[in-house]
Amino acid sequence: MLSKTMLDEMNLQIKLELDSAYLYLAMAAHFESANLGGFATWMKMQAGEEQEHALKFYEHIHDRGGKVVLQGIEQPPADYATPLQVFQQVLKHEEGVTARIHHMYAVAQKENDYASQVFLNWFVDEQVEEEKNATEIVEKLKMIGDSTNGLFMIDSKVGKRAE
Ligand code: MG
Repeated sequence: MLSKTMLDEMNLQIKLELDSAYLYLAMAAHFESANLGGFATWMKMQAGEEQEHALKFYEHIHDRGGKVVLQGIEQPPADYATPLQVFQQVLKHEEGVTARIHHMYAVAQKENDYASQVFLNWFVDEQVEEEKNATEIVEKLKMIGDSTNGLFMIDSKVGKRAE
């Protein structure tokens, strides 16, 4: 059985994962409008992953005898700046998610909730990957500067992400 504290953390995390999904979907829509289809594809896949993350918490809560209570999700911004700025925003967002996962891990440790620690391990690894991927795109976008050719090349490459 999940403790009340851990249950509240996990229910909040479902909302936060869906906030992320919604943010990335808004970024996808922005890139569609800007004719940067590769970035749009990347963002849509990212949004899909965040929904899967939300479902992992949903399952874990049920597996541990808790009750899922859904909360309202945030409206993401409608306007975005350059691709570099958008991916910097993604990186910053993911750093925030990492801090949040680490916080939950610390709560699980404090509560001697070993099952939640094992469950959260997957997310600790996942965040290393998320930050690495976002950083790579940010650094490439910095490298190309104002080059339109470079931008189209990165857009095309990023749109071919497999998962
Ligand atoms: Mg996530």
